[in-house]
Order: sequence, then C-alpha cells, then structure tokens
Amino acid sequence: MVVMTVMREEDIVTGGSMSVEEATDRAADLMKRYGHLQGISLIEPMVHDEFNGRITMTSSFGTEAAALLALVSEVDANLPVIFLDTRKLFGETHRYREQLVDKLGLTNIKIMRPDEKLLAVDDPNGMLFASDTAKCCYLRKVEPLQRALTGYDAWLTGRKRFHGGERDALPVIETAGTRIKINPLAGYNRSDIEDIFENRALPHHPLEAEGYLSIGCMPCTDRVDPGTTDVRAGRWAGQDKTECGIHYII
Ligand code: SF4
Repeated sequence: MVVMTVMREEDIVTGGSMSVEEATDRAADLMKRYGHLQGISLIEPMVHDEFNGRITMTSSFGTEAAALLALVSEVDANLPVIFLDTRKLFGETHRYREQLVDKLGLTNIKIMRPDEKLLAVDDPNGMLFASDTAKCCYLRKVEPLQRALTGYDAWLTGRKRFHGGERDALPVIETAGTRIKINPLAGYNRSDIEDIFENRALPHHPLEAEGYLSIGCMPCTDRVDPGTTDVRAGRWAGQDKTECGIHYII
C-alpha cells in the first residue's frame, strides 16, 4: 500500500545522532570503504548496513529522477522519499510523481510543504520569486527540507557530475554538517541514465517532450533550445543562480 504523507510538525522525529566532527570522520571512513562504488552497489550497504532506518532520499520527480528512484526501489521500496512540494510546481510533476510511485511500488513518500506562517509573512501574494529567488527558495525548499531531514543521519541524492557547475567535482560520499550525503549517480553520464530508463521501461516526465531538460518550479523553469548540452540551462535562466540551496543545508 502506498503511503503519501503530508508532513506536519508533530510527525517529525527530532534529532540527528552525529556531531559535525563525527559526521566528518564517518564520511572519511565511508569513502575509504565504499568510495569506489556507485549505483545499487553503493545504495545497498548504505541502506541496509550503515544507516538502517536513519537514511532517506530526496527527489524532485523531475526529468532524470526516475533513475535513482528505480535503483532505490530495487533495494528498499519502503525507504522514505522526501518530495518538496513548493506549491509552485507544474501539475505535470505531481501527476508524474503519482505515475512513478505506482510503477516502482514506492510505499513511503513524504510530501513536505512550505510553512504557511512563514509564507504569510514573507511571501503573502506568492510573488517573492520575482524579487528574491534566494529567499523564495529558502521558504519553499530549504526550510521544509531541514524539517524533513530531522531524525536522519544520511540522505541519498540524484546529483551527477555531468550536470556541471558546482557539481563538476561531486564526490560519491560527502558531509553536510551533521549528516552524510550519498550521491550514487555522481559518476553517471547521460547515457548511463538513459540505459536505466530503457532497461526498466521507465516513463519520462511529460514536459521533457516539450523541451524542458531540468524541471523545478514553474516560474523558474524554462524550455531550452534543442541540442542544448547544459542540462540545467533552463533553471533560473538569465540569473546568477544555479542551485536552489538545498544542497547547502548543514
Ligand atoms: S525555484 Fe523559484 S519559485 Fe521555486 S522556490 Fe525557488 S525561487 Fe521560488
């Protein structure tokens, strides 16, 4: 049975178990033992041995998200999957999420939404994205994710080096303050991702066919020209911004 939980404050388990120093040492130790692995070979020991019950994953349910979701579902379909519903997403993303959850048999989707009280103060008319994207991303992504990660020591992300920019030198295991971040697809390239889609007959995000390469919130996502190689070119196009800030959480 699929459980889709819209997280409330009282549902959140508090407290990670490591200090910053402990997380740093743990990441170094994990890198020594697992740093040569990727994909399922890396996900399995992280989920079953190293962080059993203390690990989650985040997913945007964007164009490439199905790849990591598929690998995770093969390891543990009950793993909690955090989905940040910024309330600015495309309707297609919500429908695609439902389609993938059904296809992959994922049973534990945690839908995190912005704090209504914070929005009422800082973004009462929902137009903050037009004047302050950093603050808007904080209210709609970073703060909800901080709440969602409480109680976990590790999280799996779908970031890849081939997306470029700050992701160029992405390690497979890194620290994020008191937590460990694991990036099982860090070394995957575009054709590796395509293989995962093909081999498992995964559906594509419906907006991909309309020219979107990377999909986030509606006001900050554009189509890109055919043949564009910069996967994230359509995100905050024309602005000096390439990341929403969730990967700076500590
Ligand atoms: S991507 Fe745009 S709309 Fe979404 S949270 Fe960030 S600034 Fe706001």
